[in-house]
Amino acid sequence: METGLKEAVPLLLGWYKDARRDLPWRRGERTPYSVLVSELMLQQTRVEAVKERYGRFLARFPTAEALAAASVEEVLKEWEGLGYYSRARSLHRAAKEIAAKGFPRTWEGVKALPGVGEYTAGAISSIALGLPVPAVDGNVLRILSRFFADPSPVDDAEVLRRDRALLKEVYPPQTGDFAEALMDLGATVCVPNGAPLCGACPWAGLCEAHRRGEEGRYPVRSEKKKRKTVTADVLVLVSNGKYAIEKRDEHGLLAGMYGFPFFEGGRVPESLGAVRAVKSARHIFTHIEWRMTGYLVDVPPEVAGALRYIWATPEEIRTRYAIPSAFKAFAEWVE
Ligand code: SF4
Repeated sequence: METGLKEAVPLLLGWYKDARRDLPWRRGERTPYSVLVSELMLQQTRVEAVKERYGRFLARFPTAEALAAASVEEVLKEWEGLGYYSRARSLHRAAKEIAAKGFPRTWEGVKALPGVGEYTAGAISSIALGLPVPAVDGNVLRILSRFFADPSPVDDAEVLRRDRALLKEVYPPQTGDFAEALMDLGATVCVPNGAPLCGACPWAGLCEAHRRGEEGRYPVRSEKKKRKTVTADVLVLVSNGKYAIEKRDEHGLLAGMYGFPFFEGGRVPESLGAVRAVKSARHIFTHIEWRMTGYLVDVPPEVAGALRYIWATPEEIRTRYAIPSAFKAFAEWVE
């Protein structure tokens, strides 16, 4: 299939030389482990947020061995605020595997690491191992959809397979630069939400959507899948200056994290104590939205003693328990 992609590759690499984003994880020496850390952090998280945290994490856990030797609580604490904590657990388990067996040398080996899916395995293989394996995510799908003026929905698995195969055919020896150039093109030029900056695009002379002046028509999506809404009551119970927290279930959202007592569907036990404040908050995960009502409740000591919660001081909550950012609105009450 003649796609024009072959000509597009050197243009993109040339553009990337000057236009590449200076990001903390691209500076200095990169190891397969450091690439794994940055790629896992970047999953579902804004680059800006990762920028602030990557250096700190690497300074604390500079090698897979150092991370493997840490407790899961230490790792979660360091991850605090980044959200999607299952990534931190996966990274911790991956570090243990790497410390024991070395970093995998193949795409299949990378993909078998905990927390690593097809996209992340492609990115790590291209950037850290020099393997010609495309990393195709929503950014790349959008760029190629515009490049080809392709009417197929980008959320169709067949389009993903095709784009992977087309990129694989034209993969240059500079595998890492190519992968990161595509990421940068999607982030800074062929942007989502709004008009792409075609004037700055190295592909403007080859891009079919641009030639037709129809950039805005792509990418095409099939009808949107809806996000599920979960309503819940959240209790911030205070007794003698201590606050009730609980360890969340090992399965489901924020598995194994510490949070405030959480009642899905809003089934708060009555007569716990005096309600001092109420507020609502939302938190949006990828497929689920929490609509929460929080109650700040003063609990008499005799009631507190009968409740099976961990009672922690504000200091302990800050330093020892990583309360996920989903509870941020209510954690403010503790401060
Ligand atoms: S020319 Fe415009 S639409 Fe085409 S790839 Fe470049 S930025 Fe995207």
